[in-house]
Amino acid sequence: MSARIIDGKAIAADIRQEAAEAVRTLVAAGGPRPGLATVLVGEDPASRVYVGSKQRACEELGIESFGHHLPTTASQAEVEDLVCSLNADQRVHGILVQLPLPAGLDEERVLNSISLEKDVDGFHPLNIGRLAQKGRDPLFIPCTPHGALVLLERSGATLRGANAVVLGRSNIVGMPMALLLVRNDATVTICHSRTSDLPAVIRQADILVAAVGRPEMVRGDWVKPGAYVIDVGINRVEDATRPKGCRLVGDVAFEEVKEVAGAITPVPGGVGPMTIAMLMHGTVEAAKRTAISN
Ligand code: NDP
Repeated sequence: MSARIIDGKAIAADIRQEAAEAVRTLVAAGGPRPGLATVLVGEDPASRVYVGSKQRACEELGIESFGHHLPTTASQAEVEDLVCSLNADQRVHGILVQLPLPAGLDEERVLNSISLEKDVDGFHPLNIGRLAQKGRDPLFIPCTPHGALVLLERSGATLRGANAVVLGRSNIVGMPMALLLVRNDATVTICHSRTSDLPAVIRQADILVAAVGRPEMVRGDWVKPGAYVIDVGINRVEDATRPKGCRLVGDVAFEEVKEVAGAITPVPGGVGPMTIAMLMHGTVEAAKRTAISN
């Protein structure tokens, strides 16, 4: 039997609608209009596209957007000074520094300079540290794994007691994903490039999150029948039949795995749309927190 398709576009649209509603309620109650500052350094075309999509999402939802663009030649001090001024700006509730930064800039130092209360990407070491600690709550959760978790929750997956396997251990996806699943009472195995007999480990998963960046690596016979499969991967592969000569595929061989899994996210249209939706959600939550604390 073919798996249920988890519609990331529809769930992301719901999250965005909820965020827009929360903005209206907050402003109507005399609270601040949420504001997101984006910091783009350099001319990386993909980064420009991502920042543009984030700014457009803000506009749609009634969130104020403050775009800052520094040249590739910007120094470490210039980037950190900009972040410092945004930390002090009361109109700004979330600061997003678009990664990767140009070579020569110290990414860790830039991320550390973002105020904890405005770290809407959730990459500040204190937010990640709190995510990892029992009984502590981070102020923000990294948007892509947060989106993957919401997809699981809203599509009816049972996390408590489930065997979850996360394929990938990056700082932005795999590791925070694993921490989130543990916080939700799943039993989690983290796989990476040195894991032995990957298919056998993955076959144990009631919930599989693949974030590996290898096109269609997870095959149908690696997956436990009925499993929830969340495919974070976005890989461009050649395809002469397409007008652009390429298409996007995930880390999971969708056509094979959908015949075995219970539910699966497509690529595109799965986790992808959730990342910006969760960023909007986080920005609104940050503004709500300042309204409460004032
Ligand atoms: P990274 O390259 O930072 O991490 C990849 C991880 O996969 C590493 O932990 C690596 O192991 C592991 N890995 C690589 N090759 C293998 C292998 N052959 N067997 C087992 N493990 C392997 O990638 P990201 O986490 O940044 O991204 C992963 C995917 O998610 C990419 O396709 C990316 O485009 C996509 N992505 C999608 C987003 C979205 O919005 N939907 C957002 C961010 C990423 P090791 O640690 O040992 O090197």
